[in-house]
Amino acid sequence: MDDCLFCKIIAGEIPSAKVYEDDTVFAFRDIAPQAPVHVLIIPKEHIKSAAQIDETNSGVVAHIFEVAAKIAKDEGLDDGFRIVNNCGDSAGQTVKHLHFHLMGGREFTWPAG
Ligand code: AMP
Repeated sequence: MDDCLFCKIIAGEIPSAKVYEDDTVFAFRDIAPQAPVHVLIIPKEHIKSAAQIDETNSGVVAHIFEVAAKIAKDEGLDDGFRIVNNCGDSAGQTVKHLHFHLMGGREFTWPAG
């Protein structure tokens, strides 16, 4: 997608603090971290949001959760972490490329506001 911020980050056209990359997934540090560790994990394929996940593309979501567990371990989040996906405008999704926030290093409350 030509006008997608995260597609440009994957392509290296916009710099990012890369944490992990493989054939299908890219992960980088959030530019406005909400926790001591705040990493965004995204599919390289442009999927607009969680509402577009179906049987043709759900495999990458499973892989993202494998990557999340690996990153959490590498970042020392042995005490726990939170994974968040905002889907759509009312949920606060600002970048329309599927992404999962992996956050840790502090206490979290529930329910999230
Ligand atoms: P969401 O609000 O769930 O769509 O999350 C989008 C996230 O992308 C926010 O947490 C932003 O801080 C983050 N973000 C926006 N631009 C960049 C960027 N250039 N590099 C890293 N993170 C970014």
